[in-house]
Amino acid sequence: MNDNQKIAELLYPQITTTTEEIFARYPKRNLKDGQVVTRFAPSPTGLMHIGNFFQAFISYNLAKNTDGIIFLRIEDTDQKRKIENAQKILYDILDRFGIKFDEYQTLDGKDIGAYGPYVQSQRQEIYKIFAKKLVAEGKVFPCFCKKTEGKEDVLELRKTKFDEDDEKEYDPCRNLSFEEVKRHIDNGESFAIRLKTKNTGKERIKFYDLIKGEIEAKANAKDFVLLKSDGIPPYAFAHAIDDTLMGTTIAVRGEEYISSTPAHLELFEALGFKPIKYCHNPLICKIDEETGNRRKISKRHDPEANMMYYFEMGYPVSSVLEYLLNMLNSSFENWRKNNPDLPWQDFKFGINDITAVAPLFDNLKFNDISKNVISRMSGEELLENWLNWAKEYDKPLAEILNKDKVKFIKLCQMDRDGAVKPRKDIYNYYMMKEYFSYAFVSPTIYEIDECDKNNANEFLQEYLKNFKIPESNEQWFNDVKALAEKLGYATDNKLYKKSPESFKGNTAKVCEFIRVAITGRKNSPTLFAIMEILGEEETKKRLSHKF
Ligand code: GLU
Repeated sequence: MNDNQKIAELLYPQITTTTEEIFARYPKRNLKDGQVVTRFAPSPTGLMHIGNFFQAFISYNLAKNTDGIIFLRIEDTDQKRKIENAQKILYDILDRFGIKFDEYQTLDGKDIGAYGPYVQSQRQEIYKIFAKKLVAEGKVFPCFCKKTEGKEDVLELRKTKFDEDDEKEYDPCRNLSFEEVKRHIDNGESFAIRLKTKNTGKERIKFYDLIKGEIEAKANAKDFVLLKSDGIPPYAFAHAIDDTLMGTTIAVRGEEYISSTPAHLELFEALGFKPIKYCHNPLICKIDEETGNRRKISKRHDPEANMMYYFEMGYPVSSVLEYLLNMLNSSFENWRKNNPDLPWQDFKFGINDITAVAPLFDNLKFNDISKNVISRMSGEELLENWLNWAKEYDKPLAEILNKDKVKFIKLCQMDRDGAVKPRKDIYNYYMMKEYFSYAFVSPTIYEIDECDKNNANEFLQEYLKNFKIPESNEQWFNDVKALAEKLGYATDNKLYKKSPESFKGNTAKVCEFIRVAITGRKNSPTLFAIMEILGEEETKKRLSHKF
């Protein structure tokens, strides 16, 4: 046994399993040509950021579009960040957005799939087995520097051991002899495991990113930590082992990992692994309202950064997913135009179609997409979705909707079911109560022009005299038109041009009077339908309003 092998035995006497045995437990996946294996590897923090969800969504589509596999791996090694219930929150969000995994661990701890456990805190033994092998090969070393000594002490020590030139970050413990290690161990000291970097700080490397293409960067020259003194691996070591054993073929992760990719690649090499293919997806940006500058979308400033926001505001799942598709591939917009009725899942894209430019989150654009999504719903579907949303986020409203479903279905059907051009005005369920406020209460604000008030009062008084809910939209309009003519309202705009001083308005104008009296607004869906929904008594009450 050489010294390194002896150190490995000293550090890990209890580890007897070999890495070969581990590989035998994780056989290579049998993939067909073109099939990819992707994963989503969130840390359970209790919050899902849109950037993380974007990765999940890209990974999901890449797998589905190649008939491949996507698995979910919970990266819960950072105990400090652990939050009660975080895993459940994460699963709920993914499930509500329809992101289904082929392999994962259920909330009660059952692994679905042959490459588990799919939760990193349950894989600690595996990380140690690989660490032991690397120690024996002299590629990594135990580090006994104590955090309590403060970083300055370590830096000082490093200076005395290496002629420090700021190019590399070698650790003071990198060349301890077997005897020195033994003394520390006999002292009962805990140790971290660090990579013994092969580089000096002068080297540069090139690597390939599936979205950004070739990237050239400074090679890693830091003895970074692979296992902390509590035996827990930070991200680098854990993901290298897990993605290799679990057979990931494409790892989609955030752009913030590009800078540590050289370190990750050195680690893959030390482990003797073939590097996985990385796809660093661009971060979603926003225009800062105060500065007008482009910046990263952030959970502190932007409610849209938190995926719960979309549920709270009642955006349909498809609106969010279609907007993400739009951000990741600009040809989606055209596809949607040409295929207005197909589900978004029919839009196929590959890795080469993903934009390399950081996409901009634009609320107006998002709402437009959502209006289109909602315009494709039938009235019945819309009410169902609105009601389901209200049950969770506005219980009093849910009760009202539930009590009078027939009325509210009619409300949701207006200018929608069977309409040649359905209205595109609703973008989420939260806005619907305000949007349809006239269906709940009489208006309090009336959009009537000052100069129209007398005419409106006069006309409405006459209109009320024989008022009955009309039989049809046509009948309603004909009645209004006849009355308008009788009262001397012009039916022809040309008259206005001839004698503007005596002009009282045309039929459209008197329709506006009725509309404002009933809804408070100059713009509304079909009045006839609204009258039907309100019923005769309520309609009459509103028509008797005096401006
Ligand atoms: N747990 C890491 C994160 O949430 C995963 C990164 C990756 O996908 O490799 O950022």
